[in-house]
Amino acid sequence: MDMKKARLTSILLACAILTGCGGKVPEADGSNSVAETTTSPVMTVAIGTAEPLTTSTSAAEEETEPVTTVPPDDMTRVHEISLSFSTAEVKVGNKTMPIVTMSPETAVNKDEIWKSSDEKIATVDNIGNITGVSEGECTVTVTSADNPGVSAEVKVTVKAQEGLTYFDGILVANKSYPLPADYNPGGLLPETQAAFDKLVAGAANDGINIYLSSGFRSYEYQSEIYGNYCDIYGQETADTFSARPGYSEHQTGMAIDVNIIDDSFAGTPEAEWIEKHCNEYGFILRYPPGKQEITGYKYESWHIRYVGEEFAKKLADKAAEVGDPYYTVEEYFGIDSVYKE
Ligand SMILES: [Zn+2]
Repeated sequence: MDMKKARLTSILLACAILTGCGGKVPEADGSNSVAETTTSPVMTVAIGTAEPLTTSTSAAEEETEPVTTVPPDDMTRVHEISLSFSTAEVKVGNKTMPIVTMSPETAVNKDEIWKSSDEKIATVDNIGNITGVSEGECTVTVTSADNPGVSAEVKVTVKAQEGLTYFDGILVANKSYPLPADYNPGGLLPETQAAFDKLVAGAANDGINIYLSSGFRSYEYQSEIYGNYCDIYGQETADTFSARPGYSEHQTGMAIDVNIIDDSFAGTPEAEWIEKHCNEYGFILRYPPGKQEITGYKYESWHIRYVGEEFAKKLADKAAEVGDPYYTVEEYFGIDSVYKE
């Protein structure tokens, strides 16, 4: 009995953690296969030493400071940025992060501004986590917020992740098509997050409060949740509502559980709004009612999946055509969702 209680508590705790941080649990990067070239570890881009441009002096000058240039002897300002690597190779869905050193040590404002030259290839967050999005090359740049003339860059090569299954460009993760254990975007994909932010704003316009309760879940975390459910309910029951590790759509970084993650959410104005409007934002209700034999999961009124506006519309059009509002991804692609054993 006590063991069961302890497990339940740990699940509740885990849920609370997920809810609290919006599912964006930063994952340890240890599992990521990232090859960093270490030949020349320090990459520097220099210093704004140029003289201030002599603009024709006018009365308007008054107290405006010339913010674009920093004297090289000003030890309170950033003069140089170095990174622990200047080239990186990362797989789709994996991450890497260079260590940043801003000099001099005494600089007051060491804030970093990160930017990717091509967000379709790799994205970067505001602390320098670089995530592979699709195969190709791009450049990620960090600039000193204090001294915009100073920056450093990483040439990023994104390689394919083996073991991902796409239909019509849509990544499918279900009971027939698992994800590799090391597919780990570390959070919701930026496109998914941006679309969800729009959805939340759209709902708010209609007086509906939608919030994220669970977003990205890593292979390891799913393993923990599923194991706990199996202990409590037995594997057969657990399989009807909890994915085995590697089979959860949450590992894609494109699935979100909104609001209340249980059957009591169905039929609420929020659930009805989601069902009616989520495809306008590129999301689909992934496990609709009456489709357990097809999707492999019972009805989940709270679980939506980002597929992009184009495919969301295609699916909606097909649903209208066949007269089935709950037409599924599996039916659209003619695929199944069944564990092999
Ligand atoms: Zn879910």
